[in-house]
Amino acid sequence: MTSVTVRVPAKVNLQLAVGPRRDDGFHDLVNVFQAVSLFDEVTASTGPGVGEPVTVGDVTARVSVEGEAAGQVPLDENNLAVRAALAAGARAGRPVDVALHIRKAIPVAGGMAGGSADAAAALVACDELWGLALPRDELMEIAADLGSDVPFALLGGTAVGTGRGEKLTALPGTGEYHWVFALADTGLSTAKVYAECDRLREATGDLAAWPEISERLLAALEAGDAKELGESLANDLQPAAVLLHRPLSRTLSAGRDHGALGALVSGSGPTCAFLAGSPDHAQELALALTAVGVCRATVTAHGPVPGATVIATTA
Ligand code: ATP
Repeated sequence: MTSVTVRVPAKVNLQLAVGPRRDDGFHDLVNVFQAVSLFDEVTASTGPGVGEPVTVGDVTARVSVEGEAAGQVPLDENNLAVRAALAAGARAGRPVDVALHIRKAIPVAGGMAGGSADAAAALVACDELWGLALPRDELMEIAADLGSDVPFALLGGTAVGTGRGEKLTALPGTGEYHWVFALADTGLSTAKVYAECDRLREATGDLAAWPEISERLLAALEAGDAKELGESLANDLQPAAVLLHRPLSRTLSAGRDHGALGALVSGSGPTCAFLAGSPDHAQELALALTAVGVCRATVTAHGPVPGATVIATTA
């Protein structure tokens, strides 16, 4: 095998319930994820690649990036795809090297877990490229070490994450959902949004409850009821994200005014997610959001879709 290409989806949070800050700095979460049809592609190849090599032990990885905000993506060991390749390579038991190329469509620092998606894709691609055949459980463990959102990018579909978000249970469901994402002209740092959430809670004395999954949301998913789902969407990070990026409140109102079944900030933002009733409704909503000028760009997508999947190999 000389190259493997993996397609990996972005995620939207249907519910993000954030518990109190733990001693290790993380928060206990209930995080209901849905994988949506907005994809990055990661190609892993043997042979010379572009970029500075990063070597740890017997493993060498390098990365190049094209597409959506490529200039903001690190090209060293801070790139989550590089870290994933190093982690997979450490299990090869022989010297290995890889050139990674990332085609980005998922907004960078947009609250849609683009970096985590690339890490999951690189894990799957390197596993195949090097013929490691790592068991699924081991891939999931490596993924959880790389970051809380990485296991879900492997799994895809709709799932609930607990702990830091990395302990996953797939949720069965019947529906297909149509989304519009309003992309912002800036990114938001996930760490800053969590810190702002803690600060707000302290300032208002509104202490965080233990996070619980919404029964209404679960019932909506089980029934495939988009209207109910729209009304159940909830994100505890939203007030903090809106405080850090005030224009988001206008974006969310514009979506609701144009008939979105539900509107929320995706994860730590600043991307806003709107649930539509049909593909046509999603197109209309996207046009309306663009016309009122409340975002940099809009993207339509559907969910749920599968997690990281090999789409091409060359021998
Ligand atoms: P999340 O929703 O998981 O908190 P996000 O979608 O808000 O994440 P990402 O696009 O994952 O944000 O990027 C967050 C930061 O991670 C970026 O600012 C960038 O510096 C770094 N990063 C590391 N690897 C990648 C990658 N492969 N793609 C994008 N960003 C990356």
